[in-house]
Amino acid sequence: MIARSSRECLLYMQLHPCACGAPSATASRGVRATASGLVASYAGACPQCGRENAFEFELDPEIPPLDAYGGARPSQIICPGQFALHSDELAARWPAAPTTIPADERAAAREALVWAMHDLEEVAKFARDGAVPEAAFTSEAGRELYHAQPGRFRSARLTARMEAYRRLVAAFGD
Ligand SMILES: [Zn+2]
Repeated sequence: MIARSSRECLLYMQLHPCACGAPSATASRGVRATASGLVASYAGACPQCGRENAFEFELDPEIPPLDAYGGARPSQIICPGQFALHSDELAARWPAAPTTIPADERAAAREALVWAMHDLEEVAKFARDGAVPEAAFTSEAGRELYHAQPGRFRSARLTARMEAYRRLVAAFGD
């Protein structure tokens, strides 16, 4: 499993909960050098069932930008449908009337929308000839979303939505 950033590792683990259904509760066990490159380990006991869960990711040698899941190449461990669903989940936290957000929740609300946008940037990295091809959807949830709403994976639609989020974030200020 090749991951491009720790952000990507964290999202992957969020998408792969414990076998009992509880959210993954793993913590970083550090990064070690191997013959094939750096490997990041995460492990931890599930608070619900006690099962020990562990993940290992080979780290892509390409250093990603700080505020992104990865560089220009698409993810190898998270499919575009999963990124789109995660984007929806984050964007849903954005209130209809942002001016009503209490001061102490403003930073978290802004952060959620910024990462909803970064999720869509990841979806767009899978696009070829104006749309994300069906073959790129490798998870069950991702394929389901694609078949329900194929239109939202056209590049023009993705760009429009990213622009909309960008404008909302800009209007919100820092
Ligand atoms: Zn469990």
